[in-house]
Amino acid sequence: MTVTGTYWREQLSADQRALLGQDPGRIANPRPDVLVVGGGILGVAAAAAINDAGLGSVQLIEAGRLGSGATGGATGLLIPEPHQWSDPETFVDLERASLERWRYLDQLKPGGIGLVELDWIGLAPDPVGHAAHQPAYVEWLSADKLARLVPGLAWRLGGTLIRHQARINPLRALAGLADDLTAVGTGVAATAVTIQSGRIAAVHTSAGVVSPGAVVFATGQPPVLDGLDLDIPSDRVKGHLLVTDPTSVLLPCTVAPVATPLEDGRLLAGGTFDYGDETPDVRDEVIDMIMAGLRAALPALRRVGVSHQWCCFRPRHPDGRPVIDRVPGLSNAWLTSGHFRTGILNAPATGLALARWISTGKPPPESSTWSATRFAELDRHG
Ligand SMILES: Cc1cc2nc3c(=O)[nH]c(=O)nc-3n(C[C@H](O)[C@H](O)[C@H](O)COP(=O)(O)OP(=O)(O)OC[C@H]3O[C@@H](n4cnc5c(N)ncnc54)[C@H](O)[C@@H]3O)c2cc1C
Repeated sequence: MTVTGTYWREQLSADQRALLGQDPGRIANPRPDVLVVGGGILGVAAAAAINDAGLGSVQLIEAGRLGSGATGGATGLLIPEPHQWSDPETFVDLERASLERWRYLDQLKPGGIGLVELDWIGLAPDPVGHAAHQPAYVEWLSADKLARLVPGLAWRLGGTLIRHQARINPLRALAGLADDLTAVGTGVAATAVTIQSGRIAAVHTSAGVVSPGAVVFATGQPPVLDGLDLDIPSDRVKGHLLVTDPTSVLLPCTVAPVATPLEDGRLLAGGTFDYGDETPDVRDEVIDMIMAGLRAALPALRRVGVSHQWCCFRPRHPDGRPVIDRVPGLSNAWLTSGHFRTGILNAPATGLALARWISTGKPPPESSTWSATRFAELDRHG
């Protein structure tokens, strides 16, 4: 029987599940030093970093449960290095720093946050453009070597091997970070703001008014609130994922674009980009397509079924890069949004950057890369 819902939730303990639904409908601290709006990985990582930095009391509010947006449905891969072929250097640097931060948090938190170290193989028809001029840690695999590493692969292809990447169960990591937060209100939606003298004086919510010292918005896409005039273009891109029943087909590591091995011999596959599909439902034909691709790559899976299937939406800005910035025109409000394909990976470094910015008043290096006004500038210059 196939469950329509994420596999990640099933891996949680009862305590971890309880952490995702803390203090429903309640604001414990209506006068916090910092209010964080949004309980996805970016909001929780920001709240945790602000808390760890000792910047005063933190209240987090989340309209649903923690992780009920894109975060709870993500693949959970923490793979900076393959992005060197598609993303600007500043972006890859943020990703590398963030993976190191995830490793640090995994060591720091009692019981860890469940980080699994793993290598990454990307299948490629030939070495051109991959093997040439690559750093030493990128190894080109001949078709023979790849066949030895990934027995059962139907295609005779070479590929690139990158060691020391990682993955997490995004909900488990979220629960690990939320564990230290003392004021988390779930089922509480921000609806409006009152602005006085260039500052947010009050945030109106479904559970009452909050008067914060500072505010961080981490609502996936930029927040839509009465009284907050933001003009930051964004949309969202749906993706489907599935987990197979346990199988004896053992992958040594993530094999892109085929699958990632999970516990119990299960495989995680998909991560489609279903542009233009705004429906919230899992579509059978997309799941069938992912499974057909998996069986074509690994014929031994022909009798293996799907145990879990789900979909979620990636928040995105037009250039595919996030915003990490002060809210334009407001001295006590910050914003992070549009983390698209790499929000799980980039959450700890983003949270740290926001905590430092709030405490020192100074933006991080390369802040123009993440600015909220870059789209208006692009428009002006055609
Ligand atoms: C199929 C798929 C696979 C992915 N795989 C990966 C991957 O392997 N690695 C990776 O790094 N990233 C991956 N991502 C991307 C990643 O999931 C996102 O970038 C990340 O989860 C965004 O986190 P967020 O906290 O910004 O947004 P969200 O998780 O959407 O959280 C925002 C939260 O804000 C809340 N909210 C919104 N408005 C309000 C309001 N007014 N008041 C209160 N709360 C509000 C929402 O309810 C929501 O819970 C994947 C995404 C998808 C869809």
